[in-house]
Amino acid sequence: MRQYTYGPFQSRRLGLSLGVNVLAHYKLCTYNCVYCEIGLTKKDNLVSPNYRIQLPPSPNFRKELFSILNFVPHLNSITFGYNGEPTLNENLLDFLNIATEVRNKLNWTNEKPKLTLFTNSSTLHFEEIRERVKKFELILAKLDGGNSDDFKRSNRPHHEVTTFETMVNSLVKLKQEMPENNKLAIQILIYNSYKEDFIPNNNFKNILDVAQALKKIKPDIIQIYSTARIPAEYFVFSIDDERKREIASIFKELINDDNIDINIY
Ligand code: SF4
Repeated sequence: MRQYTYGPFQSRRLGLSLGVNVLAHYKLCTYNCVYCEIGLTKKDNLVSPNYRIQLPPSPNFRKELFSILNFVPHLNSITFGYNGEPTLNENLLDFLNIATEVRNKLNWTNEKPKLTLFTNSSTLHFEEIRERVKKFELILAKLDGGNSDDFKRSNRPHHEVTTFETMVNSLVKLKQEMPENNKLAIQILIYNSYKEDFIPNNNFKNILDVAQALKKIKPDIIQIYSTARIPAEYFVFSIDDERKREIASIFKELINDDNIDINIY
């Protein structure tokens, strides 16, 4: 019986990826994104970024990793972040340390799989959280809105989530504080809406504002994608590949930085 891991799955952005859940078996998040692919965040599970949960890994985590990783020597990523926002778990680094140790003991066909973290960026204004997050080799941080209105509409944050400006500044700080070999990818999910009175984040102003925020953050990688599974809200639907390419070229022109890879998925 597996307790912590999912897959491995072929991921659009990560290649062959083994998912690791460091939270409980229910969703716990600081956001209630309209497009969330694991459903709506229940009222009691929509928590403040100050909220912390202590869930240390049991000895089963190490055993589970060994038993799976032995069979996938071509794995590309061990990816933390299912069931919500993983930085809410105070014991996140205990999981990372075990995964690093297990990964380094095994033989790999190509490069070792990267230790990857998904975060929704809502806790990064806390220095102690940035200290933990920056230890991951690849950080995939969310930024779907380029201004406060689009951020709130798309991500529907808990009322104690910090301002949009503070969040962007915390991403700027994270990038500056990260070790050179680790990479920061900003992931931007752009969607459309069937509902006439709901403005989706696929709007002209938002795209320009996201580009301005990215210019400040200077990530290593920008990932533009859209919904691929059933979204939390019925009125959300994905943008097409042509629109993704258009957004990528708007970003390329406005950001004008050849050190940043811009990819669509
Ligand atoms: S941050 Fe992630 S887990 Fe949380 S509601 Fe948004 S998409 Fe879902």
